[in-house]
Amino acid sequence: MRCVKVPFVDLKAEYRSIGVEVRSAMADVLRNSDFVLGKALCEFENDFAEYCDVRYAVGVASGTSALELALRAYEIGPGDEVITAANTYIATAFAISYTGATPVLVDVDTETYTIDVALIERAITDRTRAIIPVHLYGHAADMDPILDLARRHELIVIEDACQAHGAKYKGRPVGSLGHAAAFSFYPAKNLGAYGDGGMVVTNNANIAAVLRQLRNYGSTEKYHHVRLGYNHRLDTLQAAILRVKLHHLDTRNAARRRHAERYRALLADTDIVLPHVARNVEHVYHLFVIRTRDRDGLRAHLASHGIETGIHYPIPIHLQPAYRDLGYENGSFPNTEKCARQILSLPMYAELTQDAIQYVAEVIRDFVL
Ligand SMILES: *Cc1c(COP(=O)(O)O)cnc(C)c1O
Repeated sequence: MRCVKVPFVDLKAEYRSIGVEVRSAMADVLRNSDFVLGKALCEFENDFAEYCDVRYAVGVASGTSALELALRAYEIGPGDEVITAANTYIATAFAISYTGATPVLVDVDTETYTIDVALIERAITDRTRAIIPVHLYGHAADMDPILDLARRHELIVIEDACQAHGAKYKGRPVGSLGHAAAFSFYPAKNLGAYGDGGMVVTNNANIAAVLRQLRNYGSTEKYHHVRLGYNHRLDTLQAAILRVKLHHLDTRNAARRRHAERYRALLADTDIVLPHVARNVEHVYHLFVIRTRDRDGLRAHLASHGIETGIHYPIPIHLQPAYRDLGYENGSFPNTEKCARQILSLPMYAELTQDAIQYVAEVIRDFVL
């Protein structure tokens, strides 16, 4: 096996820096033994709502369940259509499908890799109920025109903020822009649990109340079930860990931004396409995604020098066997398909060192120049 010199992510490095704090928070939960819907969950929900500048936050089992339950809370289901970006993780589309609604995909623009707002309107039909813009790679979608379109067509907007904890759009945090927003705490996300977790945030008190029922067997109090609900709760233990990590999120996002600027400076004179940041957006670089013609060649070259990379995503949703019946084909979303061929995610995490970035850039330059 080849030795890894620069991993794609390094969760162990983060644990080394915050382990003491995390273990202490975990020990509190173990002493309290309030493992389900416990005190630390409530505290984390309050902190996270404040962080996102919204009134309510409801902890759930994953980012996928956050999206699904948000759609269900707005009573979206069979016969409905929900518009989302063609270039996203498949969970965005799966969450729509779980409710019985149909995902309707729209191509992304090749600058920000988020949904191409100019193409949304023609995807709207009389069955469209909602739009899920995805703040992909840590860059906010262009929300104002999307919200404007939604108002005119009376559509619900649910932000998929699973890759964008802490990102901003026109100075406002993502999560506070749509009717509701879904976050994931999958371990490798900018804010990650030690297992699975998710959160729905909203300013709507009624939707928040419904979400609390949906995640907990449809109950308002023990053994009173007012609707079909699920076991989609966020564990108290995970909430306690996440609460500690939330306090470090801004510092860690700032480190990601510094690393991104360093990559940028070191690759500026090459023909590599670097991530674009819209003027009104504060990027949090969940992923640092570059684009190049010989992507597979570059990826192999990096691998042979001990540098791990990723592709987000190699097979677009509309070309996945799981979605054969949506009726899309090769060529349906040219930009998304071009991305699938050309994009490459470079190592990116807060603990990445200057030396590592320098090394990655040198190995890239060696290949492309
Ligand atoms: C991670 C992710 C999800 C799903 O989150 P899980 O917590 O893994 O269920 C959904 N959408 C996007 C854009 C994601 O990156």
